[in-house]
Amino acid sequence: MKPKIHPEYKEITVICSCGNKFQTKSVLGRELHVEVCSNCHPFYTGKQKVIDTAGRVEKFRQRYSRTAAAKDATKDAARKGA
Ligand SMILES: [Zn+2]
Repeated sequence: MKPKIHPEYKEITVICSCGNKFQTKSVLGRELHVEVCSNCHPFYTGKQKVIDTAGRVEKFRQRYSRTAAAKDATKDAARKGA
């Protein structure tokens, strides 16, 4: 390799949000923090896991439950009116 043109390729530690740590090689030069790794990803664990970073799942649930309740209310009103 030609000297002084390549970044340093060193061993770094990857730290996952699940607490798992492992070593890899990178030119990053510092620790790498990740949200999901091969130890906790649903593909490898076989378990369902919702990665809800921005509260989107909660928002969807709230909206859905409100819509369902509103529909029931409309039905009740129609039944009462008839
Ligand atoms: Zn993990």
